[in-house]
Amino acid sequence: MSLEQYKAKRDFSQTKEPAGKTVSAKKVAPLSFVVQKHAASHLHYDFRLEMEGVLKSWAVPKGFPYIKGDRRLAMQVEDHPIDYGGFEGTIPPGNYGAGTVMLWDFGTYEVVGGDPLRALEKGKVPLELQGKKLKGRWTLVRMKPKDGEAKVAWLMIKSEIDSKPISGRADDRSA
Ligand code: MN
Repeated sequence: MSLEQYKAKRDFSQTKEPAGKTVSAKKVAPLSFVVQKHAASHLHYDFRLEMEGVLKSWAVPKGFPYIKGDRRLAMQVEDHPIDYGGFEGTIPPGNYGAGTVMLWDFGTYEVVGGDPLRALEKGKVPLELQGKKLKGRWTLVRMKPKDGEAKVAWLMIKSEIDSKPISGRADDRSA
């Protein structure tokens, strides 16, 4: 996996974000996930899954759905380095993603009945999340791109039963 796109978008003399060292893929479970609340020009939640030594990443503008069948747009963005998962801070004005990043949730995940990378390639990733806030099952489904469009638009769908309401949930703007 490559962090070229990640590095190309950032000037590490300006931002304190991790410079993006490559690590080898973890061979054994559990794999980790993080959600970072990012108050950029538009507030969104960055959902990141550890896979192949990088964090596969999606920007979820409206946060996670909690009611079975509810779906939210999740735009896939460039792979981030593993140590980005521990980043909190303010990206200075004028830089890519300028604004404040705070850790909103973290934990471990499994792809239900499958291999994470294969699921990602197929465009359907059934997730079991064990976080501090997010507990339960969600499925990421890639939308069919229109002609010439990049394959970046996904839906985050709440699968199975509703997750218990939690304080500070990602669709609660007062959180
Ligand atoms: Mn972001």
